[in-house]
Amino acid sequence: MSQYTYHVPPGRLLWNALRLRCPYCGKGKIFAHGFTMNDHCPNCGWMFEREEGYWTGAVAVNLVVAETLAAVLPVPLATMQVSPWLVMGVALPLVIALPFVFYRHSKSFWMALDFMIHPVSSGETNSRRVPPAPVSRAPARSSAAGDAIPAPPRS
Ligand SMILES: [Zn+2]
Repeated sequence: MSQYTYHVPPGRLLWNALRLRCPYCGKGKIFAHGFTMNDHCPNCGWMFEREEGYWTGAVAVNLVVAETLAAVLPVPLATMQVSPWLVMGVALPLVIALPFVFYRHSKSFWMALDFMIHPVSSGETNSRRVPPAPVSRAPARSSAAGDAIPAPPRS
C-alpha cells in the first residue's frame, strides 16, 4: 500500500471553516445543532478530534479572536477619556459574550489551521477508519482502489 498526503487548499479549508463544514470532505456539518458537535463527519466519517487534547488549540484561537474583538470598541472609548463606567459597560458584555459567539467557528478554524500545518496522510485515514481522500482532490494519490476501509456506521 503506497503512502500519500492529502493537502486541502487553504482557501477551501477557510471556506469550509466559515460554513462550519468538515475540513476533510467539505460537505458534512461539524455541529449537529447549537453548540452540540458531531463526533465525526456525517458525510465521510472523519473523526473531528484528531488526538487527545486537540481542542486546546481551538480554545486559544477563541481567546485571541474574542478578546481582540472585545478590545476594538472599548480601547478607543478609553482613549477619548469618556466615563470609565461607559467603557466598562461596553467592554464587560463583549468580554463575556464574544467567546460564546465565536465558539463554533473557533473549532472549525482551528481544524482548518491544523489541516494546513498537519495534512492528512494515508496512514491516518487507515488508522482512523475513514475513506481515503477524494481522488479528484488528491493529486499525489497513487494507491490501488481496493485499499479503502469503509466508513464507520452512522448512528
Ligand atoms: Zn467529512
